[in-house]
Amino acid sequence: MKYNRILLKLSGEALMGQQQYGIDAERLMQYASEIKAVAATGVQVAVVIGGGNIYRGVEAEAFGLDRVQGDYMGMLATVINSMALQSALEKLEVSTRLLSGLTIQRVCEPYIRRRAVRHLEKGRVVIFGAGIGSPYFTTDSAASLRAIEIEADVVLKGTRVDGIYTADPEKDPTATRFDQITFDEVLSKNLNVMDMTAFTLCKENNLPIIVFDMNTQGNLERLLNGEAMGTLVNDGGKRDGRKPLLDPKKSLLQPLVGNQPEQA
Ligand code: UDP
Repeated sequence: MKYNRILLKLSGEALMGQQQYGIDAERLMQYASEIKAVAATGVQVAVVIGGGNIYRGVEAEAFGLDRVQGDYMGMLATVINSMALQSALEKLEVSTRLLSGLTIQRVCEPYIRRRAVRHLEKGRVVIFGAGIGSPYFTTDSAASLRAIEIEADVVLKGTRVDGIYTADPEKDPTATRFDQITFDEVLSKNLNVMDMTAFTLCKENNLPIIVFDMNTQGNLERLLNGEAMGTLVNDGGKRDGRKPLLDPKKSLLQPLVGNQPEQA
Protein backbone atom coordinates (compact mmCIF):
# COMPACT_ATOMS: atom_id res chain seq x y z
CA MET A 1 0.00 0.00 0.00
CA LYS A 2 1.26 3.39 -1.02
CA TYR A 3 -0.44 5.36 1.73
CA ASN A 4 -0.56 4.83 5.49
CA ARG A 5 -3.24 7.36 6.29
CA ILE A 6 -5.86 8.63 3.89
CA LEU A 7 -8.66 11.13 4.03
CA LEU A 8 -11.57 10.05 1.87
CA LYS A 9 -13.98 12.77 0.82
CA LEU A 10 -17.40 11.60 -0.29
CA SER A 11 -20.07 13.95 -1.56
CA GLY A 12 -23.49 13.91 0.00
CA GLU A 13 -25.01 13.97 -3.46
CA ALA A 14 -23.39 10.66 -4.36
CA LEU A 15 -25.18 9.06 -1.41
CA MET A 16 -28.51 9.65 -3.16
CA GLY A 17 -27.73 6.97 -5.73
CA GLN A 18 -30.65 7.02 -8.20
CA GLN A 19 -32.91 8.83 -5.74
CA GLN A 20 -33.79 12.52 -5.88
CA TYR A 21 -33.11 13.11 -2.19
CA GLY A 22 -31.75 11.47 0.94
CA ILE A 23 -29.72 8.32 1.37
CA ASP A 24 -29.75 5.29 -0.91
CA ALA A 25 -29.20 2.25 1.32
CA GLU A 26 -27.43 0.27 -1.38
CA ARG A 27 -24.95 3.06 -2.12
CA LEU A 28 -24.36 3.58 1.58
CA MET A 29 -23.57 -0.11 2.12
CA GLN A 30 -21.33 -0.11 -0.94
CA TYR A 31 -19.29 2.78 0.47
CA ALA A 32 -19.11 1.08 3.87
CA SER A 33 -17.87 -2.20 2.42
CA GLU A 34 -15.23 -0.42 0.33
CA ILE A 35 -14.00 1.43 3.40
CA LYS A 36 -13.99 -1.81 5.38
CA ALA A 37 -11.86 -3.51 2.72
CA VAL A 38 -9.15 -0.85 2.79
CA ALA A 39 -9.19 -0.45 6.57
CA ALA A 40 -8.69 -4.22 6.85
CA THR A 41 -5.37 -3.87 5.00
CA GLY A 42 -4.06 -1.61 7.76
CA VAL A 43 -4.52 1.73 6.02
CA GLN A 44 -5.75 4.35 8.48
CA VAL A 45 -8.96 5.80 7.10
CA ALA A 46 -10.58 9.14 7.89
CA VAL A 47 -13.75 10.15 6.07
CA VAL A 48 -15.48 13.46 5.41
CA ILE A 49 -18.91 13.22 3.91
CA GLY A 50 -20.87 16.13 2.44
CA GLY A 51 -24.50 17.03 2.98
CA GLY A 52 -25.67 18.06 -0.49
CA ASN A 53 -28.21 15.21 -0.65
CA ILE A 54 -30.09 16.85 2.21
CA TYR A 55 -29.28 20.55 2.44
CA ARG A 56 -26.86 23.23 1.28
CA GLY A 57 -26.59 26.70 2.81
CA VAL A 58 -26.89 28.42 -0.56
CA GLU A 59 -30.41 26.97 -0.88
CA ALA A 60 -31.49 29.06 2.10
CA GLU A 61 -30.01 32.14 0.44
CA ALA A 62 -31.91 31.41 -2.76
CA PHE A 63 -35.15 31.57 -0.76
CA GLY A 64 -34.12 34.85 0.84
CA LEU A 65 -33.37 33.17 4.16
CA ASP A 66 -30.31 33.72 6.29
CA ARG A 67 -27.22 32.14 4.71
CA VAL A 68 -25.48 31.48 8.01
CA GLN A 69 -28.51 29.65 9.37
CA GLY A 70 -28.61 27.66 6.12
CA ASP A 71 -24.96 26.72 6.45
CA TYR A 72 -25.52 25.39 9.96
CA MET A 73 -28.43 23.38 8.55
CA GLY A 74 -26.03 22.05 5.91
CA MET A 75 -23.55 21.09 8.61
CA LEU A 76 -26.28 19.18 10.44
CA ALA A 77 -27.04 17.42 7.15
CA THR A 78 -23.44 16.19 7.07
CA VAL A 79 -23.88 14.84 10.61
CA ILE A 80 -26.92 12.85 9.45
CA ASN A 81 -24.89 11.36 6.59
CA SER A 82 -21.95 10.69 8.89
CA MET A 83 -24.21 8.88 11.33
CA ALA A 84 -25.63 6.80 8.50
CA LEU A 85 -22.14 5.86 7.34
CA GLN A 86 -21.10 5.06 10.90
CA SER A 87 -24.07 2.73 11.29
CA ALA A 88 -23.36 1.06 7.96
CA LEU A 89 -19.73 0.48 8.98
CA GLU A 90 -20.78 -0.87 12.36
CA LYS A 91 -23.17 -3.25 10.66
CA LEU A 92 -20.08 -4.60 8.89
CA GLU A 93 -18.29 -4.81 12.25
CA VAL A 94 -15.87 -2.00 11.55
CA SER A 95 -14.77 -0.01 14.59
CA THR A 96 -15.57 3.68 14.05
CA ARG A 97 -15.68 7.05 15.75
CA LEU A 98 -17.65 10.09 14.65
CA LEU A 99 -16.03 13.42 15.53
CA SER A 100 -18.04 16.54 14.93
CA GLY A 101 -17.05 20.14 14.24
CA LEU A 102 -20.25 21.16 16.07
CA THR A 103 -20.77 19.88 19.58
CA ILE A 104 -23.60 17.35 19.56
CA GLN A 105 -22.66 15.40 22.62
CA ARG A 106 -25.28 12.68 22.54
CA VAL A 107 -24.33 11.38 19.14
CA CYS A 108 -20.71 12.26 18.46
CA GLU A 109 -17.45 13.21 20.07
CA PRO A 110 -16.28 16.79 19.63
CA TYR A 111 -13.47 17.13 17.12
CA ILE A 112 -10.15 17.04 18.96
CA ARG A 113 -7.15 16.60 16.75
CA ARG A 114 -5.08 14.43 19.09
CA ARG A 115 -8.05 12.22 19.75
CA ALA A 116 -8.67 11.80 16.03
CA VAL A 117 -5.07 10.72 15.52
CA ARG A 118 -5.28 8.31 18.44
CA HIS A 119 -8.42 6.67 17.03
CA LEU A 120 -6.69 6.25 13.68
CA GLU A 121 -3.64 4.72 15.32
CA LYS A 122 -5.94 2.21 16.96
CA GLY A 123 -7.32 1.23 13.58
CA ARG A 124 -10.71 2.91 13.95
CA VAL A 125 -12.31 4.51 10.94
CA VAL A 126 -12.74 8.17 11.88
CA ILE A 127 -15.61 10.13 10.36
CA PHE A 128 -15.48 13.92 10.59
CA GLY A 129 -18.99 15.40 10.71
CA ALA A 130 -20.29 18.99 10.55
CA GLY A 131 -17.52 20.20 8.26
CA ILE A 132 -15.18 22.56 10.05
CA GLY A 133 -18.07 23.81 12.18
CA SER A 134 -18.18 27.28 10.60
CA PRO A 135 -20.49 28.77 7.99
CA TYR A 136 -19.29 29.83 4.51
CA PHE A 137 -17.14 26.72 4.19
CA THR A 138 -17.73 23.44 2.42
CA THR A 139 -16.99 19.87 3.27
CA ASP A 140 -14.18 20.00 0.68
CA SER A 141 -12.52 22.62 2.89
CA ALA A 142 -13.15 20.40 5.90
CA ALA A 143 -11.55 17.48 4.06
CA SER A 144 -8.42 19.52 3.23
CA LEU A 145 -8.12 21.03 6.69
CA ARG A 146 -8.66 17.81 8.62
CA ALA A 147 -6.30 15.94 6.30
CA ILE A 148 -3.57 18.49 7.01
CA GLU A 149 -4.25 18.40 10.74
CA ILE A 150 -4.09 14.61 11.00
CA GLU A 151 -1.20 14.44 8.52
CA ALA A 152 -2.97 12.27 6.02
CA ASP A 153 -0.80 11.31 3.06
CA VAL A 154 -3.46 12.19 0.52
CA VAL A 155 -7.02 13.44 0.04
CA LEU A 156 -9.01 10.98 -2.05
CA LYS A 157 -11.94 12.76 -3.58
CA GLY A 158 -14.46 10.12 -4.57
CA THR A 159 -16.83 11.39 -7.24
CA ARG A 160 -19.02 9.97 -9.98
CA VAL A 161 -16.52 11.13 -12.61
CA ASP A 162 -13.25 9.22 -12.98
CA GLY A 163 -10.89 12.19 -12.68
CA ILE A 164 -10.22 15.74 -13.81
CA TYR A 165 -10.97 16.53 -17.44
CA THR A 166 -10.06 19.36 -19.79
CA ALA A 167 -13.80 20.24 -19.78
CA ASP A 168 -16.95 18.80 -18.20
CA PRO A 169 -17.10 15.28 -19.71
CA GLU A 170 -20.85 15.12 -19.11
CA LYS A 171 -21.30 18.14 -21.43
CA ASP A 172 -18.33 18.01 -23.80
CA PRO A 173 -17.62 14.65 -25.52
CA THR A 174 -14.16 15.83 -26.67
CA ALA A 175 -12.98 16.36 -23.08
CA THR A 176 -9.91 14.34 -22.08
CA ARG A 177 -8.78 13.20 -18.67
CA PHE A 178 -5.50 14.13 -16.97
CA ASP A 179 -3.62 11.27 -15.26
CA GLN A 180 -1.60 13.78 -13.30
CA ILE A 181 -1.63 17.53 -13.05
CA THR A 182 0.09 20.11 -10.85
CA PHE A 183 -1.60 22.53 -8.47
CA ASP A 184 -0.37 25.41 -10.64
CA GLU A 185 -1.79 23.89 -13.83
CA VAL A 186 -5.18 23.41 -12.21
CA LEU A 187 -5.19 27.12 -11.41
CA SER A 188 -3.85 28.31 -14.76
CA LYS A 189 -6.31 26.12 -16.69
CA ASN A 190 -9.13 27.18 -14.38
CA LEU A 191 -10.15 23.58 -13.69
CA ASN A 192 -12.73 22.78 -11.08
CA VAL A 193 -11.28 20.27 -8.60
CA MET A 194 -12.50 21.63 -5.27
CA ASP A 195 -13.62 25.05 -4.15
CA MET A 196 -10.76 27.54 -3.99
CA THR A 197 -10.40 27.56 -0.18
CA ALA A 198 -10.09 23.78 -0.08
CA PHE A 199 -7.76 23.67 -3.05
CA THR A 200 -5.48 26.43 -1.73
CA LEU A 201 -5.11 24.61 1.59
CA CYS A 202 -3.88 21.53 -0.27
CA LYS A 203 -1.58 23.53 -2.54
CA GLU A 204 0.00 25.54 0.26
CA ASN A 205 0.55 22.46 2.40
CA ASN A 206 1.64 20.27 -0.50
CA LEU A 207 -1.08 17.74 0.19
CA PRO A 208 -1.77 15.60 -2.88
CA ILE A 209 -5.34 15.10 -4.07
CA ILE A 210 -6.60 12.17 -6.13
CA VAL A 211 -9.95 12.58 -7.85
CA PHE A 212 -11.40 9.19 -8.75
CA ASP A 213 -14.64 7.36 -9.46
CA MET A 214 -15.91 6.03 -6.15
CA ASN A 215 -19.10 4.57 -7.58
CA THR A 216 -17.44 1.66 -9.34
CA GLN A 217 -17.25 -1.19 -6.89
CA GLY A 218 -13.71 -1.99 -5.71
CA ASN A 219 -12.12 1.20 -7.05
CA LEU A 220 -10.99 2.49 -3.67
CA GLU A 221 -9.08 -0.69 -2.92
CA ARG A 222 -7.63 -0.88 -6.43
CA LEU A 223 -6.46 2.73 -6.15
CA LEU A 224 -4.75 2.04 -2.84
CA ASN A 225 -3.16 -1.07 -4.30
CA GLY A 226 -1.40 1.21 -6.75
CA GLU A 227 -3.58 0.74 -9.81
CA ALA A 228 -3.45 3.83 -12.02
CA MET A 229 -6.80 5.55 -11.91
CA GLY A 230 -8.32 8.97 -11.59
CA THR A 231 -6.23 12.14 -11.59
CA LEU A 232 -3.42 12.88 -9.17
CA VAL A 233 -2.92 16.55 -8.31
CA ASN A 234 0.40 17.41 -6.69
CA ASP A 235 3.21 19.92 -6.99
CA GLY A 236 4.95 17.90 -9.70
CA GLY A 237 7.82 17.01 -7.36
CA LYS A 238 8.94 20.60 -6.79
CA ARG A 239 9.04 20.29 -2.99
CA ASP A 240 9.94 17.25 -0.87
CA GLY A 241 6.78 16.19 0.88
CA ARG A 242 5.28 18.03 3.80
CA LYS A 243 7.06 18.72 7.04
CA PRO A 244 5.65 16.35 9.65
CA LEU A 245 3.78 18.24 12.36
CA LEU A 246 3.70 15.25 14.63
CA ASP A 247 7.24 13.94 14.16
CA PRO A 248 7.62 11.61 17.17
CA LYS A 249 11.30 12.51 17.63
CA LYS A 250 10.90 16.26 17.54
CA SER A 251 7.35 17.10 18.44
CA LEU A 252 6.09 17.73 21.94
CA LEU A 253 2.66 16.70 20.74
CA GLN A 254 3.39 13.02 20.39
CA PRO A 255 3.69 12.06 24.08
CA LEU A 256 0.44 13.88 24.71
CA VAL A 257 -1.25 11.69 22.12
CA GLY A 258 -0.27 8.65 24.14
CA ASN A 259 -1.54 10.27 27.32
CA GLN A 260 -5.07 10.66 26.04
CA PRO A 261 -7.46 8.61 28.15
CA GLU A 262 -8.31 5.32 26.48
CA GLN A 263 -11.58 5.40 24.61
CA ALA A 264 -13.98 2.56 25.27
N1 UDP B 1 -21.11 23.62 5.48
C1 UDP B 1 -20.61 24.73 6.16
N2 UDP B 1 -19.36 24.65 6.72
C2 UDP B 1 -18.57 23.54 6.61
C3 UDP B 1 -19.07 22.44 5.88
C4 UDP B 1 -20.35 22.51 5.32
O1 UDP B 1 -21.28 25.75 6.27
O2 UDP B 1 -17.45 23.53 7.14
C5 UDP B 1 -22.51 23.65 4.95
C6 UDP B 1 -22.66 24.40 3.65
O3 UDP B 1 -23.92 25.06 3.66
C7 UDP B 1 -22.67 23.27 2.63
C8 UDP B 1 -23.43 22.18 3.37
O4 UDP B 1 -22.95 22.31 4.71
O5 UDP B 1 -23.34 23.64 1.45
C9 UDP B 1 -23.22 20.76 2.87
O6 UDP B 1 -21.88 20.50 2.56
P1 UDP B 1 -21.32 20.40 1.04
O7 UDP B 1 -22.08 21.35 0.16
O8 UDP B 1 -19.85 20.57 1.09
O9 UDP B 1 -21.71 18.92 0.68
P2 UDP B 1 -21.43 18.09 -0.68
O10 UDP B 1 -21.48 19.05 -1.83
O11 UDP B 1 -20.08 17.47 -0.56
O12 UDP B 1 -22.53 17.07 -0.68
